[in-house]
Amino acid sequence: RAKIEGRGRIAVHEPALDEATLEASQLELDLASAPVTGQMRLDYQPFVDLRDGALAGAEALMRWRHPVRGDIGPATFIPLAESTGLILPLGLWALRSACRAALRWPPDALLAVNISALQFHQRGFITEVGRTLAETGFPAERLELEITETALMRDDPETHGQLDALIASGIRIALDDFGTGYSALAYLARLPHHRIKLDKSFVGDLANPATAELIRAIIAQARANGVAVTAEGVERPEQVEQVRAMGFTHAQGYATGLPGPEPFPEPTRLSRQRPF
Ligand code: C2E
Ligand code: MG
Ligand code: MG
Ligand code: MG
Repeated sequence: RAKIEGRGRIAVHEPALDEATLEASQLELDLASAPVTGQMRLDYQPFVDLRDGALAGAEALMRWRHPVRGDIGPATFIPLAESTGLILPLGLWALRSACRAALRWPPDALLAVNISALQFHQRGFITEVGRTLAETGFPAERLELEITETALMRDDPETHGQLDALIASGIRIALDDFGTGYSALAYLARLPHHRIKLDKSFVGDLANPATAELIRAIIAQARANGVAVTAEGVERPEQVEQVRAMGFTHAQGYATGLPGPEPFPEPTRLSRQRPF
């Protein structure tokens, strides 16, 4: 803001701050319009069933390609989307787009979609999910909503009610980044869920006997309750064997499949690759 100061000098106040503020609000505007401008897309990372090696499903992951700034990772734009409330329209866009895309997948493949705390606790969320399933025709039984432990920290009837209602409509619940929050395992075990996704920080620490011991206990408890347990961040081929031997039911990581536009190879492409 230009302003006449004493002795007739003109000074521009706080130019750096104004620029930063403008830039931030511009980024926010860009993020708001990213789905309609085609800058936002979804990649899908498959996860494998360790019991038979088959692809069991895939997780939708948001990707933002900004025309000026290039690729901006979820670690940057998800927090921005959450702090501005933009995660509500963005999350709905992701859910709808993913359901449409997954209609082309094998008929038993699961679709996993990440849900932010803000979405999960939003009034009308369940209605919105139901409407999306009805509009797209995607079956509720194949939709798995990934909710982080931190989003479920509020131990109140509302949290339980929300989970119960989603499950009653046929939807599956996965506890994402399991073990990274500060929730007691006993509390998490009481929440209704179909899957635990053990955070990649644990998978990278399996050589530590204390970590391995803890994970074995978590897996035993989960499997006794019919809960699937996914190992996240399985990066090296030998880790696939390792997590299978430990009793994980599924693995998701660079070793089993990278995020990409088509998580399931087309049968035609497979048969073309066959030598005879
Ligand atoms: P997440 O849900 O835990 O997703 C898994 C993340 O691990 C993804 O990062 C994936 O690319 C990465 N990953 C997969 N395999 C490996 C591996 O072997 N090693 C390592 N080091 N990483 C691996 P990405 O795509 O950058 O997403 C980061 C986070 O952003 C997600 O973590 C999720 O919390 C959030 N996110 C992404 N898409 C959405 C979305 O549509 N909605 C919401 N609410 N959050 C999203
Ligand atoms: Mg996830
Ligand atoms: Mg995760
Ligand atoms: Mg994670």
